[in-house]
Amino acid sequence: MERDADVIVVGAGFTGLAAAGALIDHGLSVIVLEARSEVGGRVRSFETSDGTRRDAGGQFFCEDMPEVMALVKDARLEMIESRWKGAAKSVSATPVRRASHRSNPLYERMEAADPGDPALAGLSIADWLNGQDATEEAKREFLSMVHGLWCLPADVIPFWYLVDSDRRNTADVSELQYFLKDSAASLADAMAVRLRPHVLLSSPVSLIRRNEHHVVVHSGQRQMTARHVLVAVPPVRAREIVQQPPLPETLDRALGCWRSGAVIKILLRYDERFWSPEVSSGVSWEDVSGLYAFDVSQGDAHAAFVVFVGGPLALEWRARGAAFIERTVLERMGALLGADAPEPVDVILHDWTDDRWSGGGYSDVIVDPEAYDAEALLRRGVDRVAFASSELSPSFPTYIEGAIVAGRLAAARIADALNAEDAAPGAGLKRVR
Ligand SMILES: Cc1cc2nc3c(=O)[nH]c(=O)nc-3n(C[C@H](O)[C@H](O)[C@H](O)COP(=O)(O)OP(=O)(O)OC[C@H]3O[C@@H](n4cnc5c(N)ncnc54)[C@H](O)[C@@H]3O)c2cc1C
Repeated sequence: MERDADVIVVGAGFTGLAAAGALIDHGLSVIVLEARSEVGGRVRSFETSDGTRRDAGGQFFCEDMPEVMALVKDARLEMIESRWKGAAKSVSATPVRRASHRSNPLYERMEAADPGDPALAGLSIADWLNGQDATEEAKREFLSMVHGLWCLPADVIPFWYLVDSDRRNTADVSELQYFLKDSAASLADAMAVRLRPHVLLSSPVSLIRRNEHHVVVHSGQRQMTARHVLVAVPPVRAREIVQQPPLPETLDRALGCWRSGAVIKILLRYDERFWSPEVSSGVSWEDVSGLYAFDVSQGDAHAAFVVFVGGPLALEWRARGAAFIERTVLERMGALLGADAPEPVDVILHDWTDDRWSGGGYSDVIVDPEAYDAEALLRRGVDRVAFASSELSPSFPTYIEGAIVAGRLAAARIADALNAEDAAPGAGLKRVR
C-alpha cells in the first residue's frame, strides 16, 4: 500500500527533532507532526523590549553534555558563560550563607544510595528525608532542591526514582555553565532547517491505529500512513493519544505512572548590571521552598535575572494570580538588590503549569513507587509504535541533552527494526522516497 512516509514522528521538541534528523540520516523518509505552531516544545523564546531573544523554557547546558555542545558548534551559535558558580547564595531574615545542593550531606547520601535497594522500596523522598539524621537546615535545602528541580511535592516522588534519575546526570561541572545568546530555541530552529519540508506545524495527533503492516496517524481531519510511528512527547501527553487497538496493559500502566509538575519562570530585565558578583552566582530563599534566581546578563549591556518558582510553591502562588507572583518576586528581588535598586524595565512571566502540550515542569516524573520498569517498557514500545522523550533518556534525563540522546536512540532502534523487516524473506515493503 502507498504510505506517506517510512516513519511519522509525533512532536517537534528536541527529542522529535533529533530523532527525525537521525532517521533521515538512516535513509528513511519522515514526517513530523507538531501540535504547536512552532518547533522546540519545552524550549521557547520571547523578545524583550530591547529586542533580545530570551528563554521562556529550557536554557542552560554545560561542556559535559556532548550532544548539545556538538549541535551548538555545528550551528555556530554564540554561547554565553553564565555567572553561576555552582552554589546559590541563600538569603533569609537570618544571616546570609552560601548553599550548594551538591555539597549538602543529604545530597551526598542520596548519590551513594542504590535505587534497587529493597530497603528503599515504597519510600517517597519525604519518607526518606524524615528518616535521615541531619540538621533541619540541610533537610530544608534538600527539599528546596527537590521542589525546584523536580517541580512536585516530595511526598509523591519515589525516592528510588530521584536516585536513579540523578545518577544519569553525569556532569562534573555545573549544568548551568552556558546558555545561548539567541536562546535555546535558536538551536531547535537550526535543527529544524533541514527538516523544514517534513514538519507539519499546528498538527496535534489524537489517534494512532496500528496493524501488522503499518500505522495510521490521525491529526484533525488528516490521516497519514507510515511503517512506524515515534511518539516523541512527554509520557503524560503520550497517554492522551488514543491507541487502537489499546496498548497492552503493562505499557498503558508504564505510561500512566507519570505526573507533570509545576514551574514558573520569570525574567527581570534591567537597564544595567548594578548588583554584586556574589548575587550573580545564584540565589535561593530559605523561608520558601523551590525559589531560585540566576543572573542571565549578556555582558553588562543586557542585564537580567531569571527567577524560577517550582513545585508546591508554584501551585500556591499561581492560585493567587499572576499579579501576586510578579509583585512578590519584585519585592524579594528588591530586598535582595538593595533599596536603591532601579525597577526592572521588563518583567515577563511564563507559567508552564498548565501547558497544553508539554506538561507543567521541566519533566514528567514517575509517581508510582512500583514502576521500576516503566522507562524500559516505554523504550521498548509495541509493534510499530515507539516512545521517546527526555524523561526516557539513559543520560541526562529531563534535560535538553537527554531529549537529543533519547531521540537518536529511538531513531536507531526504528531503523534497525525496518532494516530487519526489509531483510526478512519475502519482504514486499518498499521505502517511501
Ligand atoms: C521552565 C523550564 C526550564 C527548563 N530549563 C532547562 C535547562 O536550563 N536546561 C535543560 O537542559 N533543560 C531544561 N528544561 C527541560 C528541557 O526543556 C526538556 O527536557 C526538553 O526540552 C524536553 O524535550 P522533549 O522533546 O523530550 O519534550 P518537549 O520539549 O515537551 O517536546 C514535545 C513536543 O511534542 C508536542 N506534542 C505534544 N503532544 C502532541 C500531540 N498529541 N501531537 C503532536 N505534537 C504533540 C509538543 O508541542 C512539543 O513540541 C526546562 C524545562 C522547562 C519547562
